[in-house]
Amino acid sequence: MSKTAPSILPTTVVGSHAYPSWLWTALDEIEKGGYGSTDVRETFDDAVMAAIMDQERAGVDIITDGEMRRWYFVQSFYSRMSNIVEDPPLRKVGLYGYDSPQRYHTTGRVSVPQGLGIVEEYEFTRRRTDKPLKLTCPGPLTLTMHVRPGEGYSSRLDLAWEMAAVINGELKALADAGADYIQIDEPSFAVIPGELNEWVRLYNATVEGVDAKLALHVCFGNLSSRPRGKRTYEWMFPALLDTRSDQLVLEFANREMKESGLWGEVGDERELGAGVIDVKSFYVERPEDVAERIREMLKVVEPEKLYVSPDCGFFQLPRWITYLKLEAMVKGAKLVRQELEGAR
Ligand SMILES: [Zn+2]
Repeated sequence: MSKTAPSILPTTVVGSHAYPSWLWTALDEIEKGGYGSTDVRETFDDAVMAAIMDQERAGVDIITDGEMRRWYFVQSFYSRMSNIVEDPPLRKVGLYGYDSPQRYHTTGRVSVPQGLGIVEEYEFTRRRTDKPLKLTCPGPLTLTMHVRPGEGYSSRLDLAWEMAAVINGELKALADAGADYIQIDEPSFAVIPGELNEWVRLYNATVEGVDAKLALHVCFGNLSSRPRGKRTYEWMFPALLDTRSDQLVLEFANREMKESGLWGEVGDERELGAGVIDVKSFYVERPEDVAERIREMLKVVEPEKLYVSPDCGFFQLPRWITYLKLEAMVKGAKLVRQELEGAR
């Protein structure tokens, strides 16, 4: 375990890890008021430790805290915001899907007085592993996904600009605390057809002045393991190249590597994090499957520029499958690394 990753084909994750079964039980108990504040803190600390342990044991090079303190990607952030209130539920029964999450509306200008909590996530995790870390944060468009403009804002975009300033403060504090690799998640780029150029400006304002390696993750959605957007990246280029990012993190495995060659036509010198593990399927990839997918990507990306990754977070998969998939990813990357080293 060290704070360095291999110089070619480093493996990493997109962010979230699978919840252990006991955490689901604990969350029910917390919701019912059955836990005190120390109980709650210990529960989430233990959950992060489980995520770290799984990633380390699988041999992932650059890990995260598993986003174990977050609920459904963005929903836990709303409790930290002032001047937003819950709408009446849209659905109370039926399958949980994109029409299910709690909606909110604003009752005035929104502020986040205690910050988003990501600095605290970083500080806890940094003390508990020697592995290189990646920190993740939803982008402003995605963070406002479940909030409708009420008082104080003329549109969702207006609110997203407010959140861009909030996130920018959080990211600068993260970099000051020592985080050197930060990923912004904007699946909303793909699921809300609209003004990509405006969103790129929004993203750039979000990361302005942030002194860290910056990755931008754009996927097609992963609620209940379902995608939401039209699953193609082609239309987003060249606009995505105008983002101030050192790396784009994109999904390929769930589309059986469709558009794996796109980067060769539209890409530039920046790094590509390529999803070679399908987080929406119970099929457990063999290391050979992963190696084949990596070789496919290497037709258009230099091995020094290719980060090996799952398509998206693992929150919607069981923990045992998540572990097997991580292990296969690491072994697959190792196979290709050995081939490349043998050929040199
Ligand atoms: Zn994703």
